[in-house]
Order: sequence, then structure tokens, then C-alpha cells
Amino acid sequence: MDIGDMVEKIFSGRWIAGATIADSLSITKKFNRVGVETMINYLGEDFTNIDDVNNSLAMYMRILKSIKSAGRQASISVKPSQIGMLISDKVLNSNYKKIITKAKRYGVFVWLDMEESEYVDKTIKLYLSNVKAGNTGICIQAYLRRSESDIKVLVRKKAVIRLVKGAYSENQKISYPNRMAVTKNYYKLMNYLFKKSGRFMIATHDKKVVLEALKANKTYSRDVTYAMLNGIQNRYLVELAESGEKTSVYVPFGPKWFGYSIRRLKEAGHAYLLFLSLFNNQGV
Ligand SMILES: Cc1cc2nc3c(=O)[nH]c(=O)nc-3n(C[C@H](O)[C@H](O)[C@H](O)COP(=O)(O)OP(=O)(O)OC[C@H]3O[C@@H](n4cnc5c(N)ncnc54)[C@H](O)[C@@H]3O)c2cc1C
Repeated sequence: MDIGDMVEKIFSGRWIAGATIADSLSITKKFNRVGVETMINYLGEDFTNIDDVNNSLAMYMRILKSIKSAGRQASISVKPSQIGMLISDKVLNSNYKKIITKAKRYGVFVWLDMEESEYVDKTIKLYLSNVKAGNTGICIQAYLRRSESDIKVLVRKKAVIRLVKGAYSENQKISYPNRMAVTKNYYKLMNYLFKKSGRFMIATHDKKVVLEALKANKTYSRDVTYAMLNGIQNRYLVELAESGEKTSVYVPFGPKWFGYSIRRLKEAGHAYLLFLSLFNNQGV
């Protein structure tokens, strides 16, 4: 192991499946065995170079083929800025269409990740202009003040929403100021989804939120999937699967591990969690 590999292992080993498609499929196989689906993400974002964009597109095409040929229960989760958002609308639209068309042929669902707030308008537009494909979903962040009105529009258009708290650093003019306010808004949006949407994803490691959602679904009987990021609460997710809930885990892979790992480290907050990440990989 060279120094670069060691640094990567230290900072990302807990969360990232590995460098290759085979690594993402091998972890998918383990999760599938215990009833958990995966959302496979090829790491990389903010590409301004067309070669990087073309490489991401080619990787997603290969991932789709591999999911199909290996017979895995997996979707893919794509960042708009890795498939051309920063190049041009034309490239972005064309690449997204290629991905969802192939995915549909293989019976695979495609999620759009949500990135920084400057990308939200374009991401929603991209999603809505293809929503009729029927095999797509979009992430919405509870920390953004605009998300309440976005969700209303999206639900009217039959969007499938993955509700998260939000992972980027945003200006307080447009976002809620602290975790408590964000969680309050998460509950508000979640309740709206229970009332108005037939199918959605509750993507959080916050057990109180999950328990509240489980309770609400006793009343509403919606098609709800509970989702978490790999390496954070794997055991809890498996427990949910064992109790009969639909579950999914976000599995990133690839060499561009830095940005993703830094976001997870910030959320982990305490140095001891970094220590645990080295020696206590929860795996399934
Ligand atoms: C399936 C999935 C997909 C996502 N997709 C996106 C996306 O497209 N765009 C986006 O902006 N964000 C995305 N996120 C990230 C999300 O926005 C949050 O940043 C992240 O989930 C942490 O928030 P939380 O809901 O777990 O609640 P928090 O209040 O942050 O955490 C709740 C509890 O979970 C535990 N926890 C949370 N994070 C960690 C960690 N890193 N290490 C150890 N313990 C931790 C802690 O015990 C904490 O008390 C996604 C999250 C999930 C689960």
C-alpha cells in the first residue's frame, strides 16, 4: 500500500466501496443478501472538463450493464455536475437521457443527487423534463428554505422524492440556520409527502425521524423506502429490512473520494468517530 492508498483508506474506507465497479457490486451483493438494495454512485463532481464528463457517462453505462448481468437489486445515483451541468445544458440533457433510457431497458431506477444550491433550479428542470420516463427520482434537501415549494411542484408532477437534510455549506439567507431547524423542516416536508405522495424515500440516519416515519406510515400505508449512507448506520438499516421495511443504502465508489469523505467527516463531527471509522467498519 503506497502513501496515497493509506491516506485514502484513512479518510474514506468506512464510507466508500472501493475503486472499481466490481467493488460496488460486491458490497451490493452483501447488502442484497440481507434484504437491502443499493444506490450506486460513481464518485466525482463539478466537472468542467468534457473528458471527465464522458468518463462518468461511460462508467454509468457500464454500471447499468453490470447491475443487470449480475442480477443485483440496485439503482444508480448520479450527480448532475458529473454528467455535464457545468459544460452545457445540451450535454447535460443528452447524457441524462442516455442514462435513463438504458436504465429503463434494464429495469434500473435512476436517482439524481442534489448538490449545491446554485444547481437546484437546473437539476429540478432536468428532472421534470424527463419525469415521464417513470424510472427516475430526485433528491430534495430539507435545509433549503425553497424546498417546501419545490416539493409541492414536484409532487404534483408525480416525482419520486428522496428527502435528505442536506450536505453542503449554504448561506443562511437561503437555508435553515442549525440542525434543529433543519430537522423541524424535515418533519414538515416528510408529513407533506405522507399526505400527498404515494412513493418516496426517507434518507436519514436520524433514528427519531425514522421512528416518526414508521409511525406515520401505519396511518398512510405509502410506498416508503428508508435509506442511509454506507458505513454510518448499516446495522440499523439491516434491522429495518429484517422487520419488513423497504431499505436502500447509498454506495459510492471510485478514485475521486475526497469531496464526499470530507462531507461525511464534517457530519461525524467528533475525532473519535474518525478513529472508529478506521477500526470499526460496520459492513454487513
Ligand atoms: C441515502 C442518502 C442520500 C443522500 N443524498 C444526498 C444528496 O443527494 N444531496 C445532499 O445534499 N445530501 C445527501 N445526503 C446527505 C444528507 O443530506 C445529510 O448530510 C446526511 O444524511 C446527514 O444527515 P442526517 O439526516 O443523517 O441527520 P443528522 O442530524 O446529521 O445525523 C443524525 C445522526 O446520524 C449520525 N450521523 C450522521 N452522519 C454521520 C457521519 N458522517 N458519521 C457518523 N454518524 C453520523 C449521528 O449519530 C447523528 O446524530 C444523503 C443522505 C442519505 C442517507
